[in-house]
Amino acid sequence: MSGMIKQAILIVKGKARMAGGDHFRFLAAFMSAVHLALTGIGALLGCHMLAGVSFAAAAAELSMFYAVKRNGNFFAGITVVYFATCLHGLAACVLMGWTYGFFLYNLVMIPILFYMVCMTEDLLKPKKYVIFCTGANCIATLLLRRYVYLGEPWYVYTKETAFWVSFFNHLVCFFFITMFSEMFILELRASRRELRRQTEELKRLADYDGLTKLRNRRSMLAAWEGITREDYCVVMGDIDDFKKVNDTYGHEAGDEVLKMVAASMQEAVDKEDYVSRWGGEEFLMSVFGSLAYALKVVDKVQRELQNADLVVEGKKIAVTMTFGLSERGETVGEDVDELIRRADRRLYIGKNSGKNCVKIKD
Ligand code: GH3
Ligand code: MG
Ligand code: MG
Repeated sequence: MSGMIKQAILIVKGKARMAGGDHFRFLAAFMSAVHLALTGIGALLGCHMLAGVSFAAAAAELSMFYAVKRNGNFFAGITVVYFATCLHGLAACVLMGWTYGFFLYNLVMIPILFYMVCMTEDLLKPKKYVIFCTGANCIATLLLRRYVYLGEPWYVYTKETAFWVSFFNHLVCFFFITMFSEMFILELRASRRELRRQTEELKRLADYDGLTKLRNRRSMLAAWEGITREDYCVVMGDIDDFKKVNDTYGHEAGDEVLKMVAASMQEAVDKEDYVSRWGGEEFLMSVFGSLAYALKVVDKVQRELQNADLVVEGKKIAVTMTFGLSERGETVGEDVDELIRRADRRLYIGKNSGKNCVKIKD
């Protein structure tokens, strides 16, 4: 019981969501409580027919409350509660007349039905279902309105009694519709929050490399569009003989090397600099500052790799990298692509001149 209360508080605070079946069980419990109260009112007034139909409705709703499993198909339950409530409303109108406000239940059940169907995912044709249920309810209520208007109620009580019964019905219906509207808002807020969280997660997955947690090429290029500073260098780095690492120690060891290299690079740069995984074992950095600063960064990475202690099967894996650097402003009117091409060309030169080196000139 205390668990249920705690859960209810979390739901009201918007920190938890109701499970699918809980919406229905709440409706069934609420309506059976109302119908039990009306059973009592019918008995008090000596209106045994009202007590009888109210009790029958309460029994049907209560049995649905227990029959429908928490995560099961609760579509049949919704149908029973909906029609039990609507039929009860109509029967009570015939018995006591229109002024007692029993028709309000028929009105209130329409948005509740839409809400319930909206929360149900196991319905094949929800549109047809709500149209049928709402249509049947509307037609029956309108036809009955004429019948009740033209005829006489079966039971007649004083105006005072009519007022209090009608007061009870209005109170319940106002409360009922307000409560379900609030539940709808809570649900909407929770699903919006969930959607936002999923969108952020998807964006993260699309922008960042899963292995190294660095930006991927696409998001690096996109980030570039937001860069307004003019003083930066492009650093293109490639792991030397990485294929050999894979071939000798296995792909998993290769992955560990990639993670270590990524961490070293991120360690070496400043907060505003960018590090990305450009391709397989190729990394691109965009560092803000002079060429001297970029060289310092590269030096840091190289020292970090030298001191790294990556041991696989008792053997230390030695990792070196070759770098090609380009600085913005070396030529007039160059764009980012030109800077990247230049850094790449220098990296290639470095590879051809023995690897494990840094090239800043063509
Ligand atoms: P070089 O010094 O000329 O750069 O030689 P290299 O062996 O490093 O370069 P090469 O292009 O011949 O091989 C790159 C290898 O990187 C081949 C590919 O299987 C491997 N590789 C690419 N992505 C991954 C990855 O995510 N994990 C692992 N373990 N290996 C990868
Ligand atoms: Mg390589
Ligand atoms: Mg390569």
